[in-house]
Amino acid sequence: MDPPPLHVVFLPFMAQGHMIPITDMARLFARRGVKSTIITTPLNAPLFSGKIRRDAQLGLPIETHIIEFPCVEAGLPEGCENVSAIRSPDLMIPFFKAMAVFQRPVEDLLRNWRPDCIVADVVFTWATETAGRLCIPRLFFNGTGAFVVSVLHALKLHEACNGLESDSEPFLVPGLPHEIRLIKTQLPPFVKGDQSDSGIREAMEESEVNCFGTVLNSFHELEPGYAEYYRKVMGRKAWLIGPLSLGNKDGTEEKAERGDVVTSIDEQECLRWLDAREPNSVLYICFGSTSYISDAQPCEIAGALESFEELSFIWVVRKGELLPEGFEERTKGLVIRGWAPQVLILDHGAIGGFVTHCGWNSTLEAVAAGVPMVTWPLQAEQFLNEKLVTDVLKIGVGVGAQEWSRGERKIVVGREDIARAMTRVMVGEEAEELRGRARKLQEMAVRANEEGGSSNSDLKSLLEELKSLRD
Ligand code: UDP
Repeated sequence: MDPPPLHVVFLPFMAQGHMIPITDMARLFARRGVKSTIITTPLNAPLFSGKIRRDAQLGLPIETHIIEFPCVEAGLPEGCENVSAIRSPDLMIPFFKAMAVFQRPVEDLLRNWRPDCIVADVVFTWATETAGRLCIPRLFFNGTGAFVVSVLHALKLHEACNGLESDSEPFLVPGLPHEIRLIKTQLPPFVKGDQSDSGIREAMEESEVNCFGTVLNSFHELEPGYAEYYRKVMGRKAWLIGPLSLGNKDGTEEKAERGDVVTSIDEQECLRWLDAREPNSVLYICFGSTSYISDAQPCEIAGALESFEELSFIWVVRKGELLPEGFEERTKGLVIRGWAPQVLILDHGAIGGFVTHCGWNSTLEAVAAGVPMVTWPLQAEQFLNEKLVTDVLKIGVGVGAQEWSRGERKIVVGREDIARAMTRVMVGEEAEELRGRARKLQEMAVRANEEGGSSNSDLKSLLEELKSLRD
């Protein structure tokens, strides 16, 4: 008799940038016959359950399991179940801390289900210990690539920030495969010695070091030197199984992808709009799901767009961002207020460039679509992702953002700088070179996911290893 299929439980952090790749990962596992269960909360469940429901209807072994999140008891406002509901940066640390409330219910589920593995997000700092107690391997997922973790490790190992006199003087990060130069203001506060995260960073690191291994949403060919660094210098076990946005494209996806996440525009209408445009002629602008630009910034972006005689664009504008009067009537763009079908948009041949905040998912989705980028990091590890795009892969051009720019800090990039970067990515010889390199990486990304490709092989060997633990 055949042994029962593997059962893997997924526990994503409640932020779109984590739920999207983990959902894609669970679907990828289910396509390999693994029973995949995603644990989520009542308000987050509907966000991505469309894809899962349809996969289940196709006969794939995938399901969600909902557990309550007593957020008020955990000191958060009513209904604060997702990072996108957090309006004040001061609530981020309490939100991270609130992840402790899941320990008991998840432990009870694991004890009942006895799965073969749990993939738990970086924020669940208790997961390695809890899973270990039940002899269940815990896989770590942190939503970034190998480059970022390597740079952060090298910064710490070589104490690269110690004794830096100037905030704005570029310094070299030692010990990496490339010459990476940063300035102090681009670094996350904890790297600079800020202790205000009350030990959460250390707890995350400890649970990573002691876990069974890490699954990365990346592919070997994108960052070979850093995958190597992660494994050899940092001594971690890692499987690179991305880009996860590509992993489920197997024909059944064609139907499943459309009309799924509740987008703020009809997806077919958006595609029709793009169909009417020339190849590589449209610039797509989007700053992700949680980052805010300062109040004055939309006007500068609008000014940059208006400075072109003819430039088609799709601009995703978030709640509270105000555009100049008459802007939409005067220009050749499509403004989407709210949530855009980003992967569909990037994959369309009319898209010629992407102005991005360099969230890891957006970066990788651009790579998977072969689209060059205007990099505009705003916070977190986004400045590091920018370095990978501009200095290592050379598929993007920086807008010149120099430091963390949370909305309230009023940091504004001027329209001339924005327009200059847009021009470099959209027209002329440099744009062609950037696009050429981006296309080559796209081909590598697709190959990595095919039979015998690096991500496909890493996934196979991970599942084999999990099976071997049963013996
Ligand atoms: N996204 C989307 N539509 C939007 C904004 C974002 O589909 O209007 C998706 C995007 O494709 C990506 C994720 O949300 O998968 C954002 O993740 P990322 O890591 O780029 O940034 P974050 O939101 O975590 O800062």
